[in-house]
Amino acid sequence: MAHPVIQLKNVTRVYSPGANQVWALRGINLEINRGEMVAIMGASGSGKSTLMHILGCLDRPSSGQYLFANQDVTRMTPDQLARVRNREIGFIFQSFNLLSHTPAWENVCLPMIYAGIPRPVMIQKAMAMLARVGLKGREEHLPNQLSGGQQQRVAIARALVNEPSIILADEPTGALDTRTSIEIMALLQQLHQEKGLTIVIVTHEPDIAAYCERLVRIRDGQIIEDRPVPEPRLAARELAALPVEED
Ligand code: ADP
Ligand code: MG
Repeated sequence: MAHPVIQLKNVTRVYSPGANQVWALRGINLEINRGEMVAIMGASGSGKSTLMHILGCLDRPSSGQYLFANQDVTRMTPDQLARVRNREIGFIFQSFNLLSHTPAWENVCLPMIYAGIPRPVMIQKAMAMLARVGLKGREEHLPNQLSGGQQQRVAIARALVNEPSIILADEPTGALDTRTSIEIMALLQQLHQEKGLTIVIVTHEPDIAAYCERLVRIRDGQIIEDRPVPEPRLAARELAALPVEED
């Protein structure tokens, strides 16, 4: 039986700057099951980030219902929402959003500080997670001492460290070159396959969506397509076929 982690029922989001109403989402119905790897695609301005903010409990629908793991998000108090965000959801952004004067390991510790995890456990988990994403030996590096791809790996470690139910990634490869993008997709595919992690990736790049198992297309705040991807690209295999890069 499928276990939905996300259920959106007729969700709308209307922004009203001044007198102007902007209908960013116009009745979204969407179910995502545990263990799925889903791409959400759409042109700029189609409502992708708005949808992501709602999925991530950073924002609330104007109308409609949102159930996260069968709990009605629209009825949660701000405290309950913050708890769901911290424990159940891992965020990855285009711009990495790391603290710049803070070493990699401490960036990874942040979500655990909010979760109240004891410091020795926290440090041990952060180090293990950095090794898991391929950053052993870089723990003390500051973000500006790391490449874009390495910074995104730190962000992925940070997103994973509280063992969330779902990873939400908004244009995770948007600031990366092609090869580095494939490396990041290889890491996400590996986490998905080995740990059964549920991943939702927003992208406007068809090449990136092709690594996912399901494609949801939105236009003007509405879902216009929702279908399986018959043969997702395998990032690890593509990497192995690429010529070795000179340093
Ligand atoms: P995408 O991520 O697909 O580019 P967004 O979700 O950012 O799209 O935006 C969807 C629509 O909502 C756009 O028309 C955008 O201008 C509008 N919008 C987004 N955020 C706000 C906001 N805070 N206030 C007013 N309008 C907004
Ligand atoms: Mg956006």
